[in-house]
Amino acid sequence: MSYKQDTICVQGGYNPKTGESRIPPIVQSTTFAYDSTQAMADLFDLKADGYFYTRLANPTVAAFEGKVAALEGGVAGIGCASGMSATMLLAFTLCGAGDNIVSSAAIYGGTFNLFAVTLPKLGIQTRFFDPDDSAEDIEKLIDDKTKLIFTETVANPSIKIIDFEKIAAIAKKHGIVYADDNTLATPILCRPFEWGANVIIHSSSKYLDGHAAALGGMIVDGGNFNFKGNKRYASFNEPDESYHGLVYADLPAAQFATKCRAQMMRDMGAIMSPQNAFLSWLGCDTLALRMERHSSNAAKVAAYLSQHPKIDWVLHASLPDNKYHALAQKYMPNGTGGMLSFGIKGDVKQAAKFMEALQLITQETHVADVRSCVLHPASTTHRQLTPEELKAAGVPENLVRLSVGIENPDDIIADLEQALAKI
Ligand SMILES: *Cc1c(COP(=O)(O)O)cnc(C)c1O
Repeated sequence: MSYKQDTICVQGGYNPKTGESRIPPIVQSTTFAYDSTQAMADLFDLKADGYFYTRLANPTVAAFEGKVAALEGGVAGIGCASGMSATMLLAFTLCGAGDNIVSSAAIYGGTFNLFAVTLPKLGIQTRFFDPDDSAEDIEKLIDDKTKLIFTETVANPSIKIIDFEKIAAIAKKHGIVYADDNTLATPILCRPFEWGANVIIHSSSKYLDGHAAALGGMIVDGGNFNFKGNKRYASFNEPDESYHGLVYADLPAAQFATKCRAQMMRDMGAIMSPQNAFLSWLGCDTLALRMERHSSNAAKVAAYLSQHPKIDWVLHASLPDNKYHALAQKYMPNGTGGMLSFGIKGDVKQAAKFMEALQLITQETHVADVRSCVLHPASTTHRQLTPEELKAAGVPENLVRLSVGIENPDDIIADLEQALAKI
């Protein structure tokens, strides 16, 4: 039986047997006891399913993995310590020294640093493209060492929306794994596997948990990329000597997820904690309801701000004149989420004055949880930059990033109204 998304939100990932707890218990244990050596050996050899050490798998983490994998329509999930560690494990499962990644430049700042600064130190280079570039221009970045194409559904913070079909066609033509960071859309608003992605990454610290309670990440394997015989991926087609000669491309399913967990999670250990998995699993119960409300609230706020005389510009794909409106209607017909950015008429001082006048909406570095929050990059994350440098970085000094929560929209708008009246 296949269920709809809102049903999977509350029922997915965990099926108690008779007499077991209705929601997943927090299995707060590093290890699991067995009464035969053979039983444990079978687990180590991946011949049997089960748990032996929480760095590799844990029942509470498995419940959250199952729920997100079902929501995305994938074959396996891997819970990670954070969104950043999920992206790191993705890169290391596919790439080694000498390889390269072809990535959208419109991605989360932390991911940009990982790709542009840290991975090059290990011999993995990234070639960036603008998501608005033509397919021909993006293809020029690919060579026989390209192991990964990477995008973000809704880019944080530039709010650009990716054209999946354009990117997936390039990945398919060259036989390259296409991974998408679906954090700000969530599987409620967009399902990238349906548009050709092969792996999905999440920072579950954002909407999946939704309450700003638990840091976490998730990797979902779409099960739709066959590594068998693909010359680009020798590490999937040659025996893994660190795993008794296992050839991942010979596995009938979840080739990517098995290598990622058995090899990379084993060696890097960036696993999600059972406590955080429990909180995130619970948060997902209301994901469908929350995304509906985040999207409708943000659309109302965007419409309000776009007609306000003290506002210079507003970016939200719900606005008919937004550059990404058509892509949003195609890929995210049920809403574009709660993230928007806008520019206040005036300079950096005016923007700061506005921010400080807000009463309900708080200043935070976080985004995408139930409470509305704002960030002014020019006076916080980007404060070392000059006005010219800010402009070049695509972060004008009057830019305010607003993550619209699920409060009553009238209260959110009233708070913006009174703060705008003070500048
Ligand atoms: C926050 C974020 C990340 C990083 O996730 P953490 O859980 O903070 O490590 C990655 N991608 C996107 C789109 C994000 O918003």
